[in-house]
Amino acid sequence: MNEVELKKIKEKALEDHIPIIMDDTLEVIDEILKEAKPKAILEIGTAVGYSAMCFSRYLAEDGKIDTIEREHDRVEEAKINIQKVGVADKINIIEGDAVEILPTLDKKYDVVFIDAAKGKYPFFLEQAKRMLNKNGIIFADNILYKGYVMSDYNKHKQRTAVRNLREYIKEVTEDETCTTEILEVGDGLAISRF
Ligand code: SAH
Ligand code: MG
Repeated sequence: MNEVELKKIKEKALEDHIPIIMDDTLEVIDEILKEAKPKAILEIGTAVGYSAMCFSRYLAEDGKIDTIEREHDRVEEAKINIQKVGVADKINIIEGDAVEILPTLDKKYDVVFIDAAKGKYPFFLEQAKRMLNKNGIIFADNILYKGYVMSDYNKHKQRTAVRNLREYIKEVTEDETCTTEILEVGDGLAISRF
């Protein structure tokens, strides 16, 4: 794994205002993945591949990441990035809208990382649960969305996103088949262990 290239990609993504995973969020996930050593990870929202490349360090031998991105230019950039970093054999980028792609997937995953359209989180959760292995973990990034989710803020133009993030939290906290933590790292991280 080419750490120098990875660092350059991170810096360029930040310059380009691409919302890559925040350092404190990544630290929390790193610790959990180190322990879990997943064989299969599903990521929803690749952007330029930064988080997928970071997660690839903790894959079990022959482990793979499938990651979905709908913006063509980002898919192209992510493909170049995974080559540069030397992890192209571990990361499979799927181009398309996750709302359409997910129902067509018929695989099992140990870890799912949800990091795309906030208005679709309840749907992503339903699909993630369908494909999750026993003892699997679902992470949802940006779950507190700049504090809007836990405030009484509801006149914002992003109210659909906020409503759906609240719905996600409600579902995972009421689900008796998992235990959930909501952490105030980065933009908020939900961790649900099944
Ligand atoms: N996980 C990345 C950041 C992802 S940013 C990292 O931490 O490095 C969110 C990405 O999700 C954006 O690139 C956006 O284009 C993509 N996205 C949003 N909604 C989507 C959808 N419905 N299907 C696929 N990709 C989506
Ligand atoms: Mg995010």
